[in-house]
Parts: sequence; structure tokens; C-alpha cells
Amino acid sequence: MTTASTNRWEHYYTPATVAEALEILRRYDGRARVVGGGTDLLVETRRGLHRPVEAMVDVTHIEGLDVITSDEDNIVIGCGVTHSRIVRDARILKYGMCLSESCGVIGGPQVRNVGTLAGNVAHALPAGDGTIGLLALGGEIEVASDDGIRWMPLQDSFKGPGKSFIDRYRQILTRLRFRPTAAGEGSAHHRVMRPQGLCLPIISVGVRLQIDDANTITDARISMGPVGPVPYLAEPAMEVLVGGPATNEQFVRAAEVALENVELRTSKYRASREYREQMVRTYLPVILNRAVERANGAAS
Ligand SMILES: Cc1cc2nc3c(=O)[nH]c(=O)nc-3n(C[C@H](O)[C@H](O)[C@H](O)COP(=O)(O)OP(=O)(O)OC[C@H]3O[C@@H](n4cnc5c(N)ncnc54)[C@H](O)[C@@H]3O)c2cc1C
Repeated sequence: MTTASTNRWEHYYTPATVAEALEILRRYDGRARVVGGGTDLLVETRRGLHRPVEAMVDVTHIEGLDVITSDEDNIVIGCGVTHSRIVRDARILKYGMCLSESCGVIGGPQVRNVGTLAGNVAHALPAGDGTIGLLALGGEIEVASDDGIRWMPLQDSFKGPGKSFIDRYRQILTRLRFRPTAAGEGSAHHRVMRPQGLCLPIISVGVRLQIDDANTITDARISMGPVGPVPYLAEPAMEVLVGGPATNEQFVRAAEVALENVELRTSKYRASREYREQMVRTYLPVILNRAVERANGAAS
């Protein structure tokens, strides 16, 4: 028999509505945990890395939350949507390319076929790839709890490495959304990683740029990880770009400003601080140039 004390769970629920899911979480009062695809949680729970729970509440079968939709202002992604679905969604390819790119590098096909963007965000790792892509797009998340439903900026949900302001024992990240890129806008993502072994990136960067007819940058967002305890929005570098020309020279300058404002670390199995710095210097200008090409109508 499986018990919570052996880092297993006794019950696995697949509620069909948010109300039902919240009711189960309420009933277990902190002894049940929300699960998406389980690619992080089930593995880590079996390894004893989380406090034991009696039940898992799988939110990927909730009606209406396993789809990508769009309303007047946003593309909206339900918490049951997997990375594979995001990667091939025509709207996201057209209006949120960096999210498609960032979800496309997660694990292998098996992981992408079950892992969700909501799970990537709720896990709150400093360099979760889908998270970095959504952060560059200016994403927001919807959180459902006993107190009701509210939208919040994605960047406000991170508390520390693996720590989220979403209480994963009592609250559900139900939907994620972003404003589609419009004419004159482009986005891009790139990740540097060791070719095999650990599934943690050396550096992951995402950008969203808006340029006008005179090639002046009118809006910019740059996300990066791992460069600190939480996914990072490189505001000083963004400020350098806005109002200036969309040139490689500016992009090189933005990379330097980004580096001045973060504390990169040497990690034993991944890369030295110096190597990471070099990767930011190299790839941030590359993807900024790519975003400009896309803003100018290039297909990819
Ligand atoms: C072999 C392998 C390779 C991987 N490679 C990568 C990689 O390259 N890049 C990368 O970023 N990640 C990678 N991962 C990690 C993982 O696959 C992703 O982070 C994935 O997006 C997690 O989503 P999930 O739905 O499986 O989350 P789960 O494992 O189900 O949950 C993760 C966390 O989020 C919480 N949670 C999940 N959904 C919700 C929700 N809707 N509301 C509230 N809380 C929720 C859970 O309680 C848990 O704390 C890899 C994992 C494996 C096993």
C-alpha cells in the first residue's frame, strides 16, 4: 500500500472543474498538491524532495483549460496545455515566437508531450525555459483560490529558486496570457546548454522588441536566467534600448548593461561565470537582431 510517509500519495484526482479542484485542495488542507504533467513533481516527490502529500490533484483535465484561445487583447493558454501544443500552435508561432522557441527546447518530445507551461511557471526555477519566453512577452497568470480568481504579472509570482507566491497546495494557476506581437514587433529566445547530461541551462534569454518606421526602438523586454534567484527581467538593459536605434551597436551595449546588473555564478557542472558572461555577450545581440528581423516581417 502507498502512503504519504513513503513519499507516495494515496489518491490521484482528476477534477473536471476549477471549483471541484479547489474543493479537493480545501478538504485536504495542505496535504494535497496540484500537479500538471508531473514531469518535475512526480519525479521529485518520489525522490523525497517535497514534503509528503496524501493526494495529487491533476489539473490538466479541467474543462476549458486544456486549450489555447484568444480574446480581443490576448492569447490565452490553459494550465492543461503542454509544451508540444504551444510549439506548434499557429497563433503562437505568428504572435509569440519566443514562447514557441522556449517551450521547444524543453527536455525531449516525451517531456514536452506531457509537461505544461503552467507547471514550468509554478515550479519557479530561475531559468525555466517556457517561463523565460513568457516573461519576455510580458506574460500574466491567473490564479484561482478560495478567495477568488485574479490575474497578476508573471514576474510577481516568483519568490526564490523553486519558490512561488502561488501556494501549490491550495491555489491553482489556471491560465497564462500575453499580448500578441503586432506589426513592428518581434520576439526571440535562445538557450545555451551542455549537449548532454543535466537538463539545466547555462543561460536562457528571451526578448520582445517594438520598432517604428524610423528603426527606433519604442518598446523592449529582455528576460534572462539563471542570473539570480528568480527569472530576471533586465530592466536597465531594456531602458538602454528604448528610444535608441535598432542597431547591433546598441544591442552590444544592452548586453553589457545587462551584465553590469546581474551576478552570474560559476556552477560546477554547467559553466564558469566568465563563460556565462560570454554567452550573454554573444547571444543577446543575436536574438535582438533576430527580433528586429521578425518585426520587419521575416518569417523566422
Ligand atoms: C528529462 C527532463 C528534462 C527536462 N528539461 C527541461 C528543460 O530543458 N527546460 C525546462 O525549463 N524544464 C525542463 N524540465 C522540467 C519540466 O519538464 C518542466 O519544468 C515542465 O514544464 C513542468 O511542467 P509539468 O506540467 O510537468 O509540472 P509538474 O511537474 O506537474 O509540476 C511542477 C510544479 O508546479 C506545480 N504545478 C503544476 N501545475 C500547476 C498549476 N496549474 N497550478 C499550480 N501549481 C502547479 C506543482 O505542484 C509542482 O510544484 C525537464 C524535466 C525532465 C524530467
